[in-house]
Amino acid sequence: MTQLSATTRVNCPDAALLARVMTDHLIEHGTQIVPVSETLWTLASSNGDARIIADGSSLCIETFAPDTERLMEMKYLLASHVGEFNLDNGADIRWQGDGEEIASLPNLRRLKVLAVLDLSPNMRRITFGSSKLKRFDTHSALHAKLLLPPNGGQLCLPKLTPRGTIDWGSDTERAIIRKYTIRRIDPQAGTLDIDFVLHDHGGPGSRFAAHAKVGDVIGMIGPGGGSARPAQWNLFAGDETALPAIARLIEALPAGARGVAIIEVADRQDEQTIRQVADIEITWLHRNRSIRTNALARRVAAIELPADRSVFAWAGTEFSNFRKIRSDWRSPNRLAKSDHLAVSYWRDGHAQT
Ligand SMILES: Cc1cc2nc3c(=O)[nH]c(=O)nc-3n(C[C@H](O)[C@H](O)[C@H](O)COP(=O)(O)OP(=O)(O)OC[C@H]3O[C@@H](n4cnc5c(N)ncnc54)[C@H](O)[C@@H]3O)c2cc1C
Repeated sequence: MTQLSATTRVNCPDAALLARVMTDHLIEHGTQIVPVSETLWTLASSNGDARIIADGSSLCIETFAPDTERLMEMKYLLASHVGEFNLDNGADIRWQGDGEEIASLPNLRRLKVLAVLDLSPNMRRITFGSSKLKRFDTHSALHAKLLLPPNGGQLCLPKLTPRGTIDWGSDTERAIIRKYTIRRIDPQAGTLDIDFVLHDHGGPGSRFAAHAKVGDVIGMIGPGGGSARPAQWNLFAGDETALPAIARLIEALPAGARGVAIIEVADRQDEQTIRQVADIEITWLHRNRSIRTNALARRVAAIELPADRSVFAWAGTEFSNFRKIRSDWRSPNRLAKSDHLAVSYWRDGHAQT
């Protein structure tokens, strides 16, 4: 098979440190990365491969993919994470090699609001219309980055520059990015649903959902992130932000799959019906207007995992619960690294970056 390739070099004060922070973050989010040495990391994904090489104050990234679209995906994955962790140094990423002729981001879609429905007091479903959604219809990558207009501003979607860099517009135009789960998708009909938690802290994601009306347009980039591997026995844990992912994962499990789900919501009215052919026992925890606690992590730690079947455990929740759950799952004799994925979905007091 023909292999396309592209290379970039980024200047930064400590390339090994940048590579470590970036690869740790990608591993946390389910990307397969092997640290080969103190200065070399290899990355393998369904789109292609990459080598990340730290050389003093220069970070070199080589990426390989079978076609231009997947090469663009690889460039975007790597460039966006270099940008995220090397922001202070104004990373100017310029790719050289194949794929320079692509004019628009292949993983970017315009979404138009078709319908708004309140599922419960704190959860609003928005149905969007779009085109070419097939690539987003996968259970191995459930979430997408939504591109929202800056407060009071116009939506400015990113463009590919002729050099393969991404032009996000000026600081005042730049779209705000928030991660959300695709709850339901129908590529043939050109529609998808996203369920937004309506929280009181005034973030752009929640604010968009609170004011969304038919005809509004936002952007979507993706899909992304790791997922749960179906097992004979499945454990799901999360708060309401992960409810869309947990519901979609449970709905996709085959008959005969067993397990438990512990889901924390504000109160009984925020529970949802999850249809399934599998046998997942769902327990709802209610905060009942109390402040957030570690009740979810405590319940998850008390679960006995069966030793006689394949097991996969998945969690998505607020940072402090995420940390406790992950350290429980990683403790000796609990779960192998390949048998669990815990992700921080949001952090109390911090806007998403
Ligand atoms: C992979 C992934 C998938 C996700 N899927 C979904 C999804 O399908 N539906 C969904 O609603 N969320 C989902 N989330 C969580 C969502 O991205 C975060 O809650 C995000 O912070 C919301 O953005 P915002 O602009 O509303 O708030 P931000 O601007 O990020 O934060 C502003 C303030 O609001 C607080 N805040 C953020 N989220 C909450 C919350 N849920 N409750 C209370 N306070 C909060 C922050 O601590 C901060 O103080 C997902 C996150 C990830 C990583």
